[in-house]
Amino acid sequence: AKNNGKNAYRFYHRKLEAHAREQMDIERELRKAINNQELEIYLQPKIGLDCNQILGAEVLMRWFTASGESIPPDLFIPIAESTGLIKKIGEFAISSAISLLEQWQQEGIPPLKLAVNLSIIEFQDEHFIDYIIESISNSSISGDQLIIELTESIFMENKEKMSKTMHKLKHYGVAFALDDFGKGYSSFSYLQLLPIDYLKIDKSFLQNVITDEQSAAIAKCIIDIGHNLDLAIIAEGIEDQETLDYVSKTHCEMAQGFFMYRPMPSDSFTKLIRKNSHA
Ligand code: C2E
Ligand code: CA
Ligand code: CA
Ligand code: CA
Repeated sequence: AKNNGKNAYRFYHRKLEAHAREQMDIERELRKAINNQELEIYLQPKIGLDCNQILGAEVLMRWFTASGESIPPDLFIPIAESTGLIKKIGEFAISSAISLLEQWQQEGIPPLKLAVNLSIIEFQDEHFIDYIIESISNSSISGDQLIIELTESIFMENKEKMSKTMHKLKHYGVAFALDDFGKGYSSFSYLQLLPIDYLKIDKSFLQNVITDEQSAAIAKCIIDIGHNLDLAIIAEGIEDQETLDYVSKTHCEMAQGFFMYRPMPSDSFTKLIRKNSHA
């Protein structure tokens, strides 16, 4: 048994070492990728449930390596966060979003909204906030075409500072969506304190809403509280007709999911909205 313990320890130690090495590899590769423009934004349409139209999209980062491999954001975003590289990624997301909005505006496509995911680390950085404000000011778009998606981790931070930064951006029209709601440190009282506009129900609640009464009860509760606080509800992770019917029946404002559209390259999205605006 004693020997077993020692072996287990060695095994664990080796695994940790491998893990650390992998992190460092990814960090080095990611640094290169940012410089070599291996990052690309994908867009996933958001549908308005009362009009059944595309109202905008969420910007999702993709990393295609030179060798043609695709590295998922759940793998590289945490590493980008722990190394500070996330700010470069955030700047890239913001500037790409704004230049697409400008391009559509020039084409005469009716204004859409783009939502960018920001990590708490970027959001707490004043230079980064100024970068967003300057980018909006130097562009022809209206600030209200930009939505920032933040997770519940904002609840763990200094509320006053958080609220001040959010109001600073709101002054330029920027709106806020609270992502993955219900999954982490949800606190209903904080919803009142922070200037949030949209609530995104975490997909884990919606994925069982048809088969599981408890998931349905939680989802319903989140939708009702959101509505009572005047928030627009975005239902994400919609994978089938039944779930789409459910979120429509419960009066969610918007929906997003593989059932309607998967995240796609920005060119494909542009073609899609061109087609729709000429229809
Ligand atoms: P998220 O913000 O919650 O984004 C939604 C994720 O759900 C995306 O995964 C999207 O592709 C996926 N999704 C959309 N519809 C469906 C569906 O019907 N079923 C299922 N199972 N999944 C669906 P993705 O693109 O792999 O991104 C994962 C996470 O990585 C994001 O979760 C977000 O937290 C983070 N992320 C992605 N891009 C960025 C970025 O530019 N900056 C930051 N800070 N984080 C990002
Ligand atoms: Ca998001
Ligand atoms: Ca989410
Ligand atoms: Ca997430």
